[in-house]
Parts: sequence; structure tokens; C-alpha cells
Amino acid sequence: MKIAVLGAGVTGVTTAYYLAKEGQDVTVFDRQPAAAEETSFANGGQISVSQPFPWSSPDLPGKLLKWIGRDDAPLVFRMKMDPHLWQWGIRYLLNCRTETHYASAGKILSLAKHSLDCLRELVSQEGLDYERQQRGILKLFEGDKEAEEAEHRRRWLNNQGIEQTLLDRRGCQDIEPALARTRSDFTGGTWSPQDESGNARDFTHALSDISEKLGVRFQYSADIAGFERTADQITHLVADGKKEAFDAFVLCSGAFSRLLALKAGLSLPIYPVKGYSVSIPVNGSNTAPLTSITDETRHIVISRLGDTLRAAGTAEMNGYQTDPNPVREDMVLQSVMDLFPDCGDPDQAVRWSGLRPMTTDSIPLIGQTRYRNFYTNTGHGPLGWTLSCGSAELIAGLMAGKSTKLDITPYSVDRF
Ligand SMILES: Cc1cc2nc3c(=O)[nH]c(=O)nc-3n(C[C@H](O)[C@H](O)[C@H](O)COP(=O)(O)OP(=O)(O)OC[C@H]3O[C@@H](n4cnc5c(N)ncnc54)[C@H](O)[C@@H]3O)c2cc1C
Repeated sequence: MKIAVLGAGVTGVTTAYYLAKEGQDVTVFDRQPAAAEETSFANGGQISVSQPFPWSSPDLPGKLLKWIGRDDAPLVFRMKMDPHLWQWGIRYLLNCRTETHYASAGKILSLAKHSLDCLRELVSQEGLDYERQQRGILKLFEGDKEAEEAEHRRRWLNNQGIEQTLLDRRGCQDIEPALARTRSDFTGGTWSPQDESGNARDFTHALSDISEKLGVRFQYSADIAGFERTADQITHLVADGKKEAFDAFVLCSGAFSRLLALKAGLSLPIYPVKGYSVSIPVNGSNTAPLTSITDETRHIVISRLGDTLRAAGTAEMNGYQTDPNPVREDMVLQSVMDLFPDCGDPDQAVRWSGLRPMTTDSIPLIGQTRYRNFYTNTGHGPLGWTLSCGSAELIAGLMAGKSTKLDITPYSVDRF
């Protein structure tokens, strides 16, 4: 089949790779001059199978009320006259119910486990270099309330077959000795040894090179303007002023997937949730951690990527702009410097922001749409790097007419 993949972020490139492995004839289109120039550019780096819990948690509505009007709140909902934002926001909040929250976590976890298996197999076959660390993720918490929540989630994860142990402060410092010099008052943490970290952008670049060798064509600087269609299928892609016919299409356009889907007459419940990262050069310092860290209190994740320490976090629902916001960037920078005061020079930090493609139930959209040849592999929210290989392997299997290794129904667009 002649297939067009729409987007060359981590999701689009992994999709192209698995499609090429199935023997498909693949072309990837992206408006940027290279792969991974948008949300996959400088994310938190975590492959966090142990963190499948949607942010739409039972305590989110109360927290949101407390955070109203605070520019330094971990999650900010900017009031706008945008009917899609309001509709999306209400549906998102409806997913905060305990039952729904854990049901979604279960579906995300199954995909994350499958994805980790696929990532490991892919890396062992292709030998990619992307500053990978296989030291697990240490999740820090502070105080009794956070400890109680961590223990509750640990029991749930253990029941789902995920190894995770509860540690006191000393135990966390044994896992990550750089924590010995912290200014944080964290009281303990959980340790998930199967988790990993790595540079999503490097991975995407390396995999696009391998995909090219498998015959995949990449058309960069190609803005996708729309589609031509009949009642039940999409026939052509219009990109860069040119029209081209394909047998099938896979939408992998990240936070912009909804806008592109609308051009095909489809409405997808995806909204951009902006986040920030800072990348601090560690200059050979051995006071920067190697273990990937999640700080539950400060709402940030930290990964060591070669000679850089990357910290990422915060969430802002404010449309499609990625303008810098120094208050929120400083929050992320200050948090990582509190945790690791000697990790590097904060004045040298490189600041970045990106848009997470978030669905209302935090579960990605993987499968066929009402057009029989138009598929989606998008909406991975805060876990696109973690879920990329598994999602891509599933969509490629589905399009090849195979029975997939994981039941794809929970991820289908039909649930909306
Ligand atoms: C601050 C932050 C921290 C994060 N940390 C983590 C983490 O630690 N672990 C994790 O698993 N995930 C993390 N994520 C989430 C993860 O980065 C995303 O889910 C993932 O990068 C999405 O990949 P994608 O390929 O779907 O989207 P993108 O990388 O955005 O790719 C979509 C591509 O589509 C192209 N495109 C869009 N519209 C058009 C058009 N009209 N024409 C042509 N091309 C188009 C874009 O140019 C882009 O290249 C984080 C995200 C953020 C913002």
C-alpha cells in the first residue's frame, strides 16, 4: 500500500518505521525542515511505564479552584472565548471521577508495557544511540498526604504487575547519590526499576535515518493544507501546493491533529496543553543525577541526557501558541536547582516550550476513522515518548490486516 504519514514527530517516525517493516510504501510529510522539531524536540525524556495515571484525577477540580489566577500554578486554564476549549475542558473534568481515572490508567498502562517491549526490541535490532539510561524512575514525595497517595498507587501498580518499591529519604539517596546535596524536604519516594529515559529527538532522528534506508521518503517543509475525499475515503493529500494520491493516511500531527482532521471532516477531542523544559549543561559535574526523577511536589520530571540535565513540567491550556513565559520557565528551573543545587549553571539553561496533544480521557487515538483508509495515531498527551513504539507497532499491524498483539479497541476513535 502507498501510505502517507502526516507528521514527523516521534509518533510519525515510529509509525513510518513499523509500516516500512510491514513492507508498505511510506512517505512522511512535515511542515518543518527536519524530524522532531515540535513537541518531540525537548520533552522530559522519561519512558515512564509506572506513571500511567491521567492528570484528570479525583482531586484535580479542587486544586484548579485553588490555583485560579495564579500564574505559577502547576496547571493553568486560561479563560478564552473558544468553544472547543470549553467543551474539551468539561469533558476532561468529567474524567476526574475515581472509577474513570483508574480505568483510563489501566488502558494507558497496557499500552505503555507493550510500548516498552517494542522499544527494547527495536533498540536491540537497530542499535540506536539516544542517550538512553536504564536506571528506572525515582518518584519523590513530601509529607504524609503525598506518601499515602504514593502507597495507594504503588499497590495498584503492583497488582497490575509493575514492580515498584516504597523508599524513605535515605533509600532514595542510595538509589540516586546526587540527592545527598539537595535543598528539597522530600520525605520519601517510589522506585520503578523497569522505567527508562532518553532523548526523544535523538531517537527520532536516528530512527528516521534507519527508516530512510528501509525505503521511507521524508518530505520536509511541506505544509499539509487539506485532503480530497469521497463519501467513505480520503483520496488525495494536498501539501506544499501539490496534490498526491495515496491508498491510506495516518494522522500523526501531534497537538495540531484536530485542526488537520477537521479538514477531512472529522472532529477529534484533542487540545494543546503547553509545557516547558529547561536543559542545563552539566559540564562533567558528578552532582547531577543519572537516575530519572519525578518530583510529585514540584510537578516536574528530570532526565540526564548525556552532558545535559533536562527538567520539564507545568501545564497550560491556552491555545496553540508556544510563546515563552518566563514565570513558568523559571518555576521549572528553580525546582530543578532546588533539588540539585550544584548540577550546573542555571544561566546556561536552554529554555523550550511544547504542546502536548491531549485527549479528554488522556488515552491516545489509535485506529481507523469513519473513512476506511484514514487512520489516527495521535493524542498521546504527556506520554508520547513512552507510548510511541507500541502505538506505532499496533497501527502498522492493524493496517497490514494482522491481529494486533494488544486489543486496539480501547484506543479507537469510535469511543467518542
Ligand atoms: C514539557 C513536556 C514534557 C514532556 N515530557 C515527556 C516525557 O518525559 N515522557 C513522555 O513520554 N512524553 C513527554 N511529553 C509528551 C511528548 O513529548 C509528546 O506526547 C510527543 O512528543 C508527541 O509526539 P507527536 O509526534 O505526536 O507530536 P509532534 O512531535 O508535535 O509531531 C507532530 C508533527 O506534525 C507536524 N505537523 C502538524 N501540523 C502539520 C501540518 N499542517 N502540515 C505539516 N506538518 C504538520 C509538526 O510539524 C510536527 O513535526 C512531554 C511533552 C512536553 C510538552
